[in-house]
Amino acid sequence: MSDIKKDEEKGLNFIEEIIEADLAAGKYNSIITRFPPEPNGYLHIGHASSICLNFGLTLKYPGYTNLRFDDTNPVTEDTEYVESIKEDIKWLGFTWKNELFASDYFDQLYAFAIKLINKGLAYVDDSTSEEIAAMKGTTTQPGVNSPYRDRSVEENLDLFARMKAGEFPDGSRTLRAKIDMAHPNMIMRDPVLYRIKHAHHHRTGDAWCIYPMYDFAHGQSDSIEEVTHSLCTMEFVPHRELYDWCIEKLEIYPSHQYEFARRNLNYTVTSKRKLLQLVNEKHVTGWDDPRMPTISGLRRRGYTPFSIRDFCDRIGIAKRENMIDVSLLEFCVREDLNKSALRRMVVFDPVKVILTNYPEGQEEMLQSENNPEAETVTHRDIPFCRELYIEREDFMEVPPKKFFRLAPGQMVRLKSAYIIRCDEVVKDAAGTITELHCSYIPESKSGSDTSGINVKGTLHWVSAKHAVSAEVRLYDRLFRVEDPSSEEGDFKSYINPDSLQVIDHVYAEPALLKSSFDERYQFLRKGYFCLDKDTSEEKLVFNRTVTLKDAWAKEQKKG
Ligand code: ATP
Ligand code: MG
Repeated sequence: MSDIKKDEEKGLNFIEEIIEADLAAGKYNSIITRFPPEPNGYLHIGHASSICLNFGLTLKYPGYTNLRFDDTNPVTEDTEYVESIKEDIKWLGFTWKNELFASDYFDQLYAFAIKLINKGLAYVDDSTSEEIAAMKGTTTQPGVNSPYRDRSVEENLDLFARMKAGEFPDGSRTLRAKIDMAHPNMIMRDPVLYRIKHAHHHRTGDAWCIYPMYDFAHGQSDSIEEVTHSLCTMEFVPHRELYDWCIEKLEIYPSHQYEFARRNLNYTVTSKRKLLQLVNEKHVTGWDDPRMPTISGLRRRGYTPFSIRDFCDRIGIAKRENMIDVSLLEFCVREDLNKSALRRMVVFDPVKVILTNYPEGQEEMLQSENNPEAETVTHRDIPFCRELYIEREDFMEVPPKKFFRLAPGQMVRLKSAYIIRCDEVVKDAAGTITELHCSYIPESKSGSDTSGINVKGTLHWVSAKHAVSAEVRLYDRLFRVEDPSSEEGDFKSYINPDSLQVIDHVYAEPALLKSSFDERYQFLRKGYFCLDKDTSEEKLVFNRTVTLKDAWAKEQKKG
């Protein structure tokens, strides 16, 4: 796991600075962090950033990280999400110390609420949510005290117990902290701590019909677990005061909240709510659609855990929100796959090449490197014979200058094979090229080339007789605009209609018949690919993880 550790030369981020100062001052001997997802969706690339931060810190410093499901909202939560979250964190390469659920603390949280009531610091309010909102005031105007604010402790205890017992309908009463309706921080104006919700919870079933609000669950859970550094995103800055207030009044372990900026990726959305809409409205095939910015989508697309960790490490953490260019993520996966991917040849749109001077019926087995970047280079066999396929776009009848591929009278090398020259172009009645008659140079065999001929172009190819069929799925950005969430109207109206291109019959070299889900492939000149789970006995299906170069950026410049 040492590859996760931060390069010392990069310096410390501001959270690490705080932790090092705390450790140096003897405030703690070891630290505890937690990753606290709400199980209401699949994890996305923004969560990966938080995971790498929380788990990365306790790899670097003594201590451990808990996985805590923040499951206080029964309506949106589900065990399917719990399972997917665990799978994703493990896949990213991290191990949590304890698997915890905020719902396990419901009894304890209830007791905390009673404590506040007894201290005269919480009251049951019969106002509706609209009335509460109306009494809240504004940033420039103080709020108004609720008519129920001065209920006696006894009455509050009685009503709260009856709320718990299920005597009242949803929304009819809340438990509120008694702080200050004129507080400059609006969140401190008697925040709601508990609400009534007669709903089935994915873990506690029907045991509860009152549920704590985020602000009365999160900090308390941190405290119960003795989390030292509770890291959350910037939108919780105004909540910190309440976080501290609850800990102080309850006289419980003083966890501390620190905030960092959310990480957003361009050309996509990183919000579970929006991703859920894409899934429910079938704009994508599921949470793990390879176009989704979810961890499961990226995994299916062929991203490696290392590439995602590397990406999170490179973007680091900051206090100001910003948009990260998806090309950085693509760069990270290219870097990693270049080191590990097996090279293979696949022709997407073929034109047949006939080597007129290669004896009919003859076949030979050539060798090609699996990966020239590997420490120990291994080889695979590729059959060669008289009839081959090359990419249609690799031939031009009237080539422009600097077209170093095949053209009438022009020579190219076939990768790991021979140099060929195009002698004749055969067309059908409609003028479409059907065959290229070429001659090969016998002395030019790769590895033992004595021909003395220099050619500028090398093409990928497959033997027509031995080629195997496969389907490839090519992906483009899911959205047409950089930040669909900030555009006018529905973010879904900015979906890129061409985000998926399926080529259902490509011609692959036979080595790909033995493809495995654990391997990544570089289809020469086409990009990095991985086997998709839709692969069956009948059909190989590959996803393109990423192109070899950033075709999109070039396209944009042209436009
Ligand atoms: P979403 O809006 O996608 O539902 P969330 O913040 O509500 O996100 P949680 O399940 O509450 O999702 O998040 C778990 C943890 O991940 C939190 O600590 C949260 O701050 C962090 N997190 C969520 N989104 C991002 C992001 N885009 N960048 C960095 N951290 C994030
Ligand atoms: Mg949330």
